[in-house]
Amino acid sequence: MKQGNIGVTTENIFPVIKKFLYSDHEIFIREIVSNAVDACQKLKTLAGKGDFAGELGDLTVRVSFDADAHTITVSDRGIGMTAEEIDKYINQIAFSGANDFLDKYKDDAAQIIGHFGLGFYSSFMVSDKVEIVTHSYREDAKAQRWSCDGTPNFTLEDVEKADRGTDIIMHLSEDCHEFANRDKLQGLLNKYCRFLPIPVALGKKTEWKEGKQVETDEDNVINDSEPIWTKKPADLKDEDYTSFYRKLYPMSDEPLFWIHLNVDFPFNLTGVLYFPRIKNQIELQKGKIQLFCNQVFVTDNVEGIVPDFLALLHGVIDSPDIPLNVSRSYLQSDQNVKKISTYITKKVSDRLQSIFKTDRKQFEEKWDVLKIFIHYGMLTQEDFYDKAKAYALLRDTDDKYYTLDEYATLVKDNQTDKDSRTVYLYANDRDAQFSYIADAKARGYNVLLLNGELDTPLMQMLESKLEKTSFVRVDSGTIDNLIKKEDDKREELDEARASLLSGVFRSQMPKADKVNYNVQTRAMGADAQPAVITQSEYMRRMKDMARIQPGMAFYGEMPDMYDLVLNTDNAVVKAILEDIEGNTSEALKPIDAEIRGLEARQSILRKEQEGKKADEISQEQKDDLKATGEALSKQQGERDRVLADYGTGAERVHQLIDLALLQNGLLRGEALQKFIQRSVSLL
Ligand code: ADP
Repeated sequence: MKQGNIGVTTENIFPVIKKFLYSDHEIFIREIVSNAVDACQKLKTLAGKGDFAGELGDLTVRVSFDADAHTITVSDRGIGMTAEEIDKYINQIAFSGANDFLDKYKDDAAQIIGHFGLGFYSSFMVSDKVEIVTHSYREDAKAQRWSCDGTPNFTLEDVEKADRGTDIIMHLSEDCHEFANRDKLQGLLNKYCRFLPIPVALGKKTEWKEGKQVETDEDNVINDSEPIWTKKPADLKDEDYTSFYRKLYPMSDEPLFWIHLNVDFPFNLTGVLYFPRIKNQIELQKGKIQLFCNQVFVTDNVEGIVPDFLALLHGVIDSPDIPLNVSRSYLQSDQNVKKISTYITKKVSDRLQSIFKTDRKQFEEKWDVLKIFIHYGMLTQEDFYDKAKAYALLRDTDDKYYTLDEYATLVKDNQTDKDSRTVYLYANDRDAQFSYIADAKARGYNVLLLNGELDTPLMQMLESKLEKTSFVRVDSGTIDNLIKKEDDKREELDEARASLLSGVFRSQMPKADKVNYNVQTRAMGADAQPAVITQSEYMRRMKDMARIQPGMAFYGEMPDMYDLVLNTDNAVVKAILEDIEGNTSEALKPIDAEIRGLEARQSILRKEQEGKKADEISQEQKDDLKATGEALSKQQGERDRVLADYGTGAERVHQLIDLALLQNGLLRGEALQKFIQRSVSLL
C-alpha cells in the first residue's frame, strides 16, 4: 500500500472546496457522472481506432446509493485508471500559485472548479471520504483502490476488481445525507445529466405489483443519450421536434416553429431553438433556454450568451466552446461567446425570413404571437432590426398584413399631408375607437391595429427610422385635422360666436382629478358628428411610454388632456348656438359692452407704459392698469356665469357632451346614470 500527500501546495484544498463551493455543491453529481461518461467514450474511441480489442459490452453508467451507509456510488465500465494514472490525474493536481488564486476567487466557486479542473474533487463538497476503485482496460493492469478522507493524505493499494472500469464511492458528510435518496438523485440527474451521451441508470424501474412498488429487471435510465440536437436535421421529422419540446416543457403549448442550429466553423455549436406560443405576458419569461457543453448541462441562465430578446425563446444550445465552469462576467466578455450570440441572431433572422418568403400565409397566421419577439429584437438589437425590417408586418383593422415597404406604398398617396409627412393612422382598440376608425375609412384612409405590448416604443422607433412618417391614433384629432391637406377651405365661426359656444360647453364639462377638457369649435361639414372628443397624440404617447420607461415618470403624473371639438356645421350645434344667442344676448349685451370698453382702455394703458422702466411710470398709472385688469376679469367672470346659467338648464348641451364622452368610454358612474335618465325623459 502506498501513502502519500496530494500535490496541493496550499495547506488544504478541501476546506476551501467545502466552504466556498457550498452553494453549488449539488453539481458534484454532474462532475462525477460526466467523468464516468467520458471514460466510456474514451474507450469507444479506442475501440474505434483498433486500440482496444476487448468487448465493449453494456456501457451504462450506474448510480446507486445506500441510505443507511450514507453512500453514493457511480460506476462505469470505461477505460479505468492504472496506479500511474491515478497518480498523474488525481494526486498531482497542478496547483501553481494556488494560494493566490484561491484568495482571489474565493467567492466564485465556479471559477475555482473551472480553473483547476477540480471536477473529481467536487465530490468532497458532499463527502467526508471518497474512494476510487478502478480497473484499467490495459491488459496487465492491476485494479486499484484509492481513498482519501478529505485531508491531503491518500492511500493507494491493489485491490480485487474483476470488471473493467471505475467505481467512485462517496461517503456523504453528515450535512449531506439527504443526497442518498432516490427522489433527490433522480431530480439532480434529471437536471444535470439528462442528455449525456452514454446511458445513465439510477437503479431499476419499479412497477405496482400486489399493492406495492417492486423493482423490475429493467434499468431506470434517466437520460436521452441521443437528443435531437445531436442528429442531422435531414433525419428528423416535425414530430421529433415537437415531442422533444414536450419533453423539455411539459406544460407549454405546441411551439410555433423551431430552428435547428448546426455550425462547426468558426466555433462548434448545435442546438434547437423554439418559438413558444405565448398567450399573455405572464408567460414571457427568460431562462427557458438550456445551455450544454457536450451534452453536459451547464446552465439555464443564458444572459450574455444569447441576445436578450432571444432569451425569450425556448430550447437548447450545446457548444464545447462555451467554457463550462466560469463566471458570468467571464462568459460575457469571452470572444467565442460574442460570436455565438451574433451567429444565433443571424440564424434566427434567416429562419424568419425564409418562412416569410416561402410561406407568407403561415407567417401572417403566426405573426400576432411572433411579433413580441420580433419587436423586442428590433428595439434592442440594431443588427436584428436591419434584417427584420424586411419581414416585420403591420396589421390593419381589417386584418390585412403589410410589410413596412408595402404599407408605405399603400398609404403614400392618400395619407401624405401638406408638409409631405406620411401619416400612419392607428387604433389600439377596434371597439372603443370604432366610430373614429369608421370616419377615417370613409375618407379612404387605412387604419392600423397596434395593440401589442411593445407597439408604443416600436412606433417611436419607426418614426425615427422611416422617412417623414408619423403615427397618429385615429382619435387624436378630428378626421379633417389628422392629415392636414392643402385644399382645406372651411368657413369658421367668428370669434365672438365661437366663444359663446365654447363658453357654454366648457362650463358643463365634467370636473375630475387628473383629467382636463379643453373646448374648441371647428367647421367639419354638415354630415360630421356634432361633438367629438380627441386626445393629443403626443401627450398620450408620452404617458404610454412613461408606463414602460422609468425615466419618464414625470409624464405619468400629468393629467389626461382631452379636447371636445364642436362641429359648427352640424345642425344641432347650430340650433344650440341660436338658442344660446336668443337666451343670453339680453344679459350679455351690457357685459360685452363693458368688456369691450375695458379692453380698449387696457390696451391704451399698456401702450403708454410699453418700453418704460418701472420708475418712469407713475403710481397712478400703475394702479389704473391694475384696476382695469381686475374689472375686466370680473366682467369676464360675469359673462362665464351667464353662459354657465344657460348651460346648466340646457339639456341638449349635456346630451351632446355625454354622447361624446360615451363614445370614448369616459362616461361612467353617476354621470352615466344621469345620461340614461335624461335620454329616457327626452323620449
Ligand atoms: P477533468 O475531467 O476536467 O479532466 P477531473 O478532476 O474530473 O478533471 O478528472 C481528472 C482526471 O481523472 C480525468 O481527466 C480522467 O483522466 C481521470 N478520471 C476521473 N474520473 C474517471 C473515471 N470515472 N474513469 C477514468 N478516469 C477518470
